[in-house]
Amino acid sequence: MTVSKRKQDFPILFQQVNDEPLVYLDNAASTHVPTPVINDLVTYMQTSHANVHRGVHTLAERATSQYEAARETVRTFIDASSVKEVLFTRGTTTGLNWVARSLGELVIEAGDKIVISRMEHHSNIVPWQELAKRKQAELIYIDLTEDGELDMADAKEKIVSGVKIVSIAHASNVLGVVNPVEDLAKLAHEVGAVMVVDGAQSTPHMTVSVQELDCDFYAFSGHKMCAPTGIGVLYGKQTWLEKMSPIEFGGEMIDFVYDDYSTWAELPYKFEAGTPNISGAIALASAIKYLEEIGLDTITKHEQELVEYVLPKLLAIDGFELYGPRDASKHTGVIAFNIKGVHPHDLATALDMQGVAIRAGHHCAQPLLRYLAIHSTARASFYFYNTKEDADSLVESIIAAKEFFSDGFI
Ligand code: PMP
Repeated sequence: MTVSKRKQDFPILFQQVNDEPLVYLDNAASTHVPTPVINDLVTYMQTSHANVHRGVHTLAERATSQYEAARETVRTFIDASSVKEVLFTRGTTTGLNWVARSLGELVIEAGDKIVISRMEHHSNIVPWQELAKRKQAELIYIDLTEDGELDMADAKEKIVSGVKIVSIAHASNVLGVVNPVEDLAKLAHEVGAVMVVDGAQSTPHMTVSVQELDCDFYAFSGHKMCAPTGIGVLYGKQTWLEKMSPIEFGGEMIDFVYDDYSTWAELPYKFEAGTPNISGAIALASAIKYLEEIGLDTITKHEQELVEYVLPKLLAIDGFELYGPRDASKHTGVIAFNIKGVHPHDLATALDMQGVAIRAGHHCAQPLLRYLAIHSTARASFYFYNTKEDADSLVESIIAAKEFFSDGFI
């Protein structure tokens, strides 16, 4: 089966929007859930739903074993060495906040430096800003090259003694570049810093081995990889997680509770206070199996082919301004752009009228847009279920919108 035939597994994609067939190109925001994953979720709800870990009855044991099996599925998916290193979260934002809060308490002192980059999502900026404020530490940004790639020469100048944490996106949600996080982890470790990776835009699209990257933490979200919203993962090296304090306190995460103090459960439960998102974790595992069946390398290749097909056509549109590398081989399926003279919100609305779903705005990256001296952009983002026909619809709908605006309004 060719990859884009998988589109058939996504009934939501087969509908009319504004009397036009839907072309969904907002996958960097959220992807859709395929029928096999929906079916697994329904089966769980209809046969095994119960609270995990404490119950001795059959349903509780069934829910627990499926929840823990999901953790093992995630472990192999990201190549972690132990399930103790796999924490279920609400998503990337929660994972990064946990690290900034708990690791930050442990390693940051006044005058220390935290290094991020100019292309980070707010989720990988604001938690560090707050940590820096709390601890009187300094937040430093690695600059970008003209082409919108991470400036590795600048990274080398900034990741120096005194830096305690480096936190970088594996792939940008705006510029469509993949960052060399393995090299950054080496630089970080050479100066004794901890390497944190925001994997929100990489995990859904490429093979990830946290051991090969040698990062200390890696966060990602289920809803960007065919699972429902509200479930995500934080990977952390066991040596760090053992030393770190829990972020939330309550049921599930304790060992013993006395009148005036408590002790913590072992990893990974120490960090999972309260009833977890059991159905979400089970659906995430189902989504992972679905993606693995297609093959992450096949997904990368298909998206690469789509970008190589569509980027030259987009660049040929008069007034098309791309943010990020013009070289398609350096580009993920995320394409941020503007059409000269058309506000991106107007463009996105005009495309929606033609059934084409793209995003417009600051993409939760205001410092990046300020750095690029722009207010907002349009963004089309592809996934494996997108086809060349979808890419053609994007190009045609932009040309039609451009004509509409130049005739009527500009
Ligand atoms: N980082 C990046 C690079 C992202 O693209 C996103 C989602 N747009 C996030 C973090 C935050 O993910 P979530 O909203 O699922 O927590």
